Amino acid sequence: METSLQELRSWTQGHSFWIYNGGLSCCTMEVLSVSGPRYDWERFGCISVSDPGNADVLIVAGPVTESMREEVRSAYEKMRSPKFVISVGSCANTGGMFVDLSYTVTHGLESILPVDLYVPGCPPRPEALLHALIGLQKKIARQAAQ
Ligand code: SF4
Repeated sequence: METSLQELRSWTQGHSFWIYNGGLSCCTMEVLSVSGPRYDWERFGCISVSDPGNADVLIVAGPVTESMREEVRSAYEKMRSPKFVISVGSCANTGGMFVDLSYTVTHGLESILPVDLYVPGCPPRPEALLHALIGLQKKIARQAAQ
């Protein structure tokens, strides 16, 4: 069986996510737990980075307020390409319960950035985030096969 260079590239890319955690609220605890020893996302080739300029995956967890909009956008623009975005939890996905309570909360991350995957829940289980990371690997592999 032959493997094309593109497939090899997508495999390596899908198994070496450098993740910038844009934690904005309580869902961040779930993201941190996935990076910890119990769920151990390093098994899937994921590592956390503190500088978005080194990252290729941005995880946004929590409601994006108007005052954070530019920060989130700026982190995304600093990331290296190809880059991917995962929206974690109801607040990041749609504004969640805060959207009708506060005019400062945006109606979801999609109004600011292109989102590749959504993780539902308030908060989502850590397994749901792991599932999303595996889904992102599959998405990259599918794109390479096209
Ligand atoms: S979705 Fe729930 S757990 Fe997550 S940031 Fe919003 S309120 Fe907190």
